[in-house]
Amino acid sequence: MYMFSKSLEERCNRILRDMEGSLTARDRVGIQDFVLLDAYTSESAVLDNLRKRFNENLIYTYIGTLLVSVNPYKELGIYTKKQMDIYMGVNFFELPPHIYALADNVYRTMLTETNNHFILISGESGAGKTEASKKILQFYAVSCPSTKLLDNVRDRLLLSNPVLEAFGNAKTLKNDNSSRFGKYMDIQFDHMGGAVGGHILSYLLEKSRVVHQNHGERSFHIFYQLVEGGEEDLLRWLGLERNCQRYSYLVQGECAKVSSVNDKSDWKTVRKALSVIEFSESNIESLFAIIASVLHLGNVTFVADSQGYATLNNSPEIHWLSKLLGIPAQVIQVGLTHRKIEARSEEVLSPFTVDQAVYAKDALAKAIYGRTFTWLVNELNESLANKVSVSSKTTVIGLLDIYGFEVFSVNSFEQFCINYCNEKLQQLFIQLTLKSEQEEYEMEGIEWESVPYFNNKIICDLVEEKFKGIISVLDEECLRPGEATDMTFLEKLEEKMGGHAHFVTHKLADQKTRKTLERGDFRLLHYAGEVTYSVVGFLDKNNDLLYRNIKEVMRQSKNAIVKHCFPSTEPDSKKRPETVATQFKSSLVGLTEILMSKEPWYVRCMKPNEGKQPGLFDDVLVRHQVKYLGLMEHLRVRRAGFAYRRRYEIFLQRYKPLCPDTWPNWKGTAAEGVECLVKHLGYKPDEYKMGRTKIFIRHPRTLFATEDAFEVC
Ligand code: ADP
Ligand code: MG
Repeated sequence: MYMFSKSLEERCNRILRDMEGSLTARDRVGIQDFVLLDAYTSESAVLDNLRKRFNENLIYTYIGTLLVSVNPYKELGIYTKKQMDIYMGVNFFELPPHIYALADNVYRTMLTETNNHFILISGESGAGKTEASKKILQFYAVSCPSTKLLDNVRDRLLLSNPVLEAFGNAKTLKNDNSSRFGKYMDIQFDHMGGAVGGHILSYLLEKSRVVHQNHGERSFHIFYQLVEGGEEDLLRWLGLERNCQRYSYLVQGECAKVSSVNDKSDWKTVRKALSVIEFSESNIESLFAIIASVLHLGNVTFVADSQGYATLNNSPEIHWLSKLLGIPAQVIQVGLTHRKIEARSEEVLSPFTVDQAVYAKDALAKAIYGRTFTWLVNELNESLANKVSVSSKTTVIGLLDIYGFEVFSVNSFEQFCINYCNEKLQQLFIQLTLKSEQEEYEMEGIEWESVPYFNNKIICDLVEEKFKGIISVLDEECLRPGEATDMTFLEKLEEKMGGHAHFVTHKLADQKTRKTLERGDFRLLHYAGEVTYSVVGFLDKNNDLLYRNIKEVMRQSKNAIVKHCFPSTEPDSKKRPETVATQFKSSLVGLTEILMSKEPWYVRCMKPNEGKQPGLFDDVLVRHQVKYLGLMEHLRVRRAGFAYRRRYEIFLQRYKPLCPDTWPNWKGTAAEGVECLVKHLGYKPDEYKMGRTKIFIRHPRTLFATEDAFEVC
């Protein structure tokens, strides 16, 4: 349970530990809140402070209530149960910054204000987002009230992570455990603060990874876990060998083994988690039958007959596919080598060339995996659904762990979607944070001084506007099969967006950015910087085409999950399915709506270097992240009028020893006490303002002086 008041002795000890107010300590370990930084407007000062702290293993720093975190790439011993206890029920600013402090603050605010919150965790791949979200969840698992029923919910919440990570994470060049999907998770609490349920939304799984991985990367963990860790008789039943090298879909990146990943023990964890989450044994069987089917499918090869059409030798793979999916071998064979077309109102089977057959096979593998992932998330949600407190009202804390801004040497459709997502989140940040700041001043009766900032709505519109945006143009081109190509798409963009300030093609490149561009590229000037996209594959990836007859084949499956994933009610190909970009756009609109109704909190994660190395702080890399994570903007907003604000009670409690009238006990209201205190300290009238519930202090130096006086005292 929560302890809201701690003993005086403990409090004093804590304040003594909080050495960062003193000047010498500040020189060494930097400042724990950027808002208090003297030269707050300079990027270099922010960078210096981050570096100082990083070198002292202090990875967390605040900007007001926003938490900045720099990945240490080593265990710091700061996530123990003891640490959790220290941060439970303590005032936010009383202890050094920590992810637990933020988690605790959000939780207590939710309980006192009985409203909904979300924590947006952002940063580039490998910056520590998923770890941060796990730390928050673990904190709640320990700090929330416990009963037998609630503990069961807690276990399910915790165990949903290894399951989702097995199916949705993979080794990439940037991160050995990179999440290849966006995740939003609601944790629901009853009015006593007990965690009673949860709900997960997933976004845009990178399913192309199932069939292709770049050098040094892997497919999703679950495949390797099954092959390495699966029990002998399970593998025999699935027709698998204990050798990843045998499977074409697992060796494209030539690194099936990763030193930091233990597939064998992870397999055990996932297997156990599935049981605790109460997946039925038959569902678990069907699930692994699907994973094995994808591996068999990857090994299917085609040979050209005398006319150049694809044929299949009666390969063992087809036998296993037939067995595991419960579909006659002959049906699978025809499905993989033909497509149904309409000729004079008659349906005929048209044979594939070898290339077409390979394409259709890969499309099927991606579809099966992608749909199974969606099924998995739905099952987890069933298991997490609130069955404890159905009648009473619940409040939620949402955790958003979603892909950060991505820039590679070659950027494709996936990066386009991910960076669009980041534009939307930046837009949300602008709206919610400026809005709440403004509201706070209004509520407190204090005049608001507005901050200049770049509003990226213009870029969101460029991408998503109806009939006019890039997604619209892309969808239009996808409607002209046979005629449209990636290049005609680019030409259309050139025609329609040529004049836009944030869009550049090679024709216009020199004028706008003075940098040349390849012919097949376009460049977007994102709020976070320029990104050049190659149009190759845009149409194909946006269409995500799966031929109708192969869907019909899947519909015949006796595997319960496959049956569920390919329902007979699915609209047939005569009606055009929504494109990938349009689906993604709608899901982001949905997400924005969910978040807009909640109170925002932010964790900004940063990578200190590209080499996953402890102790190495790369100035150029971090400076770039400071820029695009919007830290300077956030700092400016926080500093717009008054750098610092604190509730009267808290301010008085901390500084009352500095004034004989307020120490040890002040008899009047907290506001009067603070007024008396700051007069005694010599605050000038323009240095502070008294709001309804808080004192607002304009310059950090005012507070520094008070902090230093406090240290001396
Ligand atoms: P992201 O989700 O942002 O891509 P992760 O959260 O998966 O990144 O972190 C990548 C790796 O960095 C982790 O696997 C872990 O090794 C290391 N890491 C991240 N955060 C921390 C932390 N707070 N302490 C120690 N190591 C961390
Ligand atoms: Mg992640």
